Amino acid sequence: MCAHTPSCPSVDDQCCWTAHVVSDHSEQGWCRLCNGVILFDDGFFIAPDGHVEPVLMSA
Ligand SMILES: [Zn+2]
Repeated sequence: MCAHTPSCPSVDDQCCWTAHVVSDHSEQGWCRLCNGVILFDDGFFIAPDGHVEPVLMSA
């Protein structure tokens, strides 16, 4: 569970990729967020259920 304040968005949230980085592998082009999302530096993330979505830049 997220221990950050304010708490990070859940994996179901539209901006789930804005959660805190807990495991930075930026040298490999990805990092793990505290809600279980894997965020890639090419603009996509993988949700814990395995589906891939593009990062939605807020309007
Ligand atoms: Zn968090």
